[in-house]
Amino acid sequence: MNETILVTGGAGYIGSHAVKQLVNAGYDVIVIDNLSTGHIDAVDKKAKLVIGDVRDLGLLDTIFSRNNIAGVMQFAGKIIVPESVSHPLSYFDDNFTAVISILRAMRKYDCKNIVFSSTAAVYGSSDSPAIKEDAPLHPESPYGFSKLAAEHLICDCEKAYGIKHCIFRYFNVAGASEDGSIGEAHPVETHLIPVTVNAALTGRPMQIFGNDYQTRDGTNLRDYIHVLDLADAHVLGMKMLLSGGKSEIINLGSENGYTNKEIVETVGAVTSHPVNWTYGPRRPGDADSIVASNEKAKQILGWKPTRDLKCMIESDVNWRNKHPKLYGRTLNKLTSDQKKQLLIYRSSNHAKALYEEIETKDQERLEKLIKANRF
Ligand code: UDP
Repeated sequence: MNETILVTGGAGYIGSHAVKQLVNAGYDVIVIDNLSTGHIDAVDKKAKLVIGDVRDLGLLDTIFSRNNIAGVMQFAGKIIVPESVSHPLSYFDDNFTAVISILRAMRKYDCKNIVFSSTAAVYGSSDSPAIKEDAPLHPESPYGFSKLAAEHLICDCEKAYGIKHCIFRYFNVAGASEDGSIGEAHPVETHLIPVTVNAALTGRPMQIFGNDYQTRDGTNLRDYIHVLDLADAHVLGMKMLLSGGKSEIINLGSENGYTNKEIVETVGAVTSHPVNWTYGPRRPGDADSIVASNEKAKQILGWKPTRDLKCMIESDVNWRNKHPKLYGRTLNKLTSDQKKQLLIYRSSNHAKALYEEIETKDQERLEKLIKANRF
């Protein structure tokens, strides 16, 4: 029988790519997602989808008691640095409380393996040319702090309850699936590559935030990694834990840093469309420069990134060209199988309420984002 993996946040950008790779690798996959930023259509049809919140212990009880979960991949959470500066409470709730909840369920049902999505934002700025996993940790945003707090808790749960972990610290993720069926689709897009690709495809203006940073051209420098390379690493990390490997904290990056200006220029070159850009003010919470050392990932997982910046941009363009409305509104697109699955799990009142409120929630969240951050 195949092993079953529970993927929280599996309808989101990175989670949905990991679900696809897990299914391809032969695992049975259950996704739990509250669809606050995820999309039903992003979830591979071979995975079960439970619409609900990972903080809902009753719902987790239902899932864990009905399935023999071998491991959890925890993607559910929020990821926007400036939003976290305006809403620290909400970020700690989504990125930390949610982890408490999943660890409680894992402890209760004796599930011993968690792959956790953390972030390079736990390091903050660094003078080192390539940040290693033992570098000092000094996050510069509530987002980074919320992920670091979750990392600590996960490590403490190994000591106390023997729950093993593979914590991945991501650098900047971009790109889409090879067939263009799934890709990055946030209610308000804030990440540099999709923002720039959108600007190139539509002619709309965009800004580079700040040009007085300590980098080669004054704009922030980041390490970009293809979402499929990232998803591959997650499958390897889970396999390592399931086959008895020990806990690890591992960077996932390319060791190649690009400045914001270089990204904008590369998008212009790849799409053959001029990008209409200007410099804007600094964005709160941005560190000058962040580049990964990926030596540990190579040694421990035998993993290395295989897709370069051009491939990330081309796949993002392909996804956007194929899906001009991205996923569109998703609730009325449930397949009959998904509806059946939803009904099984709708015994939880919380899940039911979420199901009914998703459409309005998306709209409210969008309005809040616009008000708080002037996107
Ligand atoms: N950025 C920018 N203009 C945009 C969006 C992002 O200049 O419209 C910059 C941002 O300030 C940062 C870099 O691009 O220096 C990467 O930001 P992103 O939000 O993509 O990822 P993060 O590094 O915050 O995780």
